[in-house]
Amino acid sequence: MKQSQLFTKTRKDAPSDEVSKNAQLLIRAGFIHKEMAGVYSWLPLGLKVINNIKRIVDEEMRAMGSVELLMSTLQNKNTWTQTGRWDDQKVDVWFKSNLKNDTEVGFGWSHEEPITQMMRDHVASYNDLPRVVHQFQNKLRNETRAKSGVMRGREFIMKDMYSYATSNEEHLAIYNRATEAYNKVFERLSLGDDTYITSASGGAFTSNFSHEFQTLCDAGEDTIYVHKTQKLAVNEEIFNDETMTKLGTKKEDYEARTAAEVGNIFTFGTEKCEQMGLTFKDATGATVPAFLGSYGIGITRVMGVVVEKFADDKGMVWPESVAPFAVHLVELSQGNEEIKKTANDLYADLTKAGVEVLYDDRDARAGEKFADSDLIGIPYRIVVGKHTTPDSIEVVRRKDGTVTQHLQSAILSGTYAT
Ligand code: ATP
Ligand code: MG
Repeated sequence: MKQSQLFTKTRKDAPSDEVSKNAQLLIRAGFIHKEMAGVYSWLPLGLKVINNIKRIVDEEMRAMGSVELLMSTLQNKNTWTQTGRWDDQKVDVWFKSNLKNDTEVGFGWSHEEPITQMMRDHVASYNDLPRVVHQFQNKLRNETRAKSGVMRGREFIMKDMYSYATSNEEHLAIYNRATEAYNKVFERLSLGDDTYITSASGGAFTSNFSHEFQTLCDAGEDTIYVHKTQKLAVNEEIFNDETMTKLGTKKEDYEARTAAEVGNIFTFGTEKCEQMGLTFKDATGATVPAFLGSYGIGITRVMGVVVEKFADDKGMVWPESVAPFAVHLVELSQGNEEIKKTANDLYADLTKAGVEVLYDDRDARAGEKFADSDLIGIPYRIVVGKHTTPDSIEVVRRKDGTVTQHLQSAILSGTYAT
């Protein structure tokens, strides 16, 4: 993509009411537009990042056997009254409205109930199970606090996945596969080392834990207790003697850290399917409820966490797997037609080689181009100036500023990236 075609402009200052670092940087670099507190639109560069995160998540969910669908945002009250969760006392984030004929509708903050309701039409016997489905959906939640930028939106993108199984054993096998799939996702997002599977309250449905995927991050809203020698953590809500006994660990083995919940996995047992009548005929012909599991990942929260964790004083620093482009090609022609041609040709060749390039072909000063490039944070910058020849092309690595020279052939085959 040519930067001259990109309508978004970078800016020196974020809106004065924006307090979070992730949103400030994303707004300044033109990745997002702030509609109101906790509500953001995704501009071309931001959308590319979102799509990269989604693609990684989608690949891993499919690899563990899930199938993608897309549920509606407008939700039926009757679906939610069956489990008691239409009640604003039970769910305090509902946005609700009325149809012209006064019928009440809800705006989807979650989809456990609607998916379970829908599944009733497709599950009759044990032959129809197990099933795993997932979607990428804009959730709407009337959150009280919205001071964390894209890490806590009133409208945000979630990957939610649901599993329906015939037995607890079958459910646990899926739960374990989901755990592995999540580990792979966060590894691929470059968050693996700092992401902890964190025991949390199992809720009313199970005596066991649920598990949050918590990424160490100063901008996070949660406190977790991280084990000093093992890769495990406990949410502060259940950091007590009972939990220590269950885990066979001691309180003094942990230290408190600030983290952001990037995902969670949850066992509902049979209760929800019982309440909603999602039953099946088992091998003996008896009618029994299915076991439900629920698995979320905050796609847009992940984006915010990546910004928070890797940004430096010059701007954002995207890991290669989620970066909006692989390469930022910056020409410093200052009106010199020869240099311009070298840069144009290199852009055409890179594009032909399948490399995702943002090409700064604008008529602007070098200082301005470099400042914008640092702010946008694409992993590699290729500079075409008066010293550039096919034998010597300069590549600057964003994360540490390392400058290297490469043959044009290495640039086209991508071997400069080490
Ligand atoms: P939190 O405790 O942070 O409010 P939650 O327990 O409400 O999260 P779920 O309802 O299970 O979370 O949602 C699944 C995932 O969606 C979370 O793990 C988180 O990554 C993300 N998420 C939840 N609420 C928001 C939000 N308001 N904005 C952005 N992402 C969110
Ligand atoms: Mg919440």
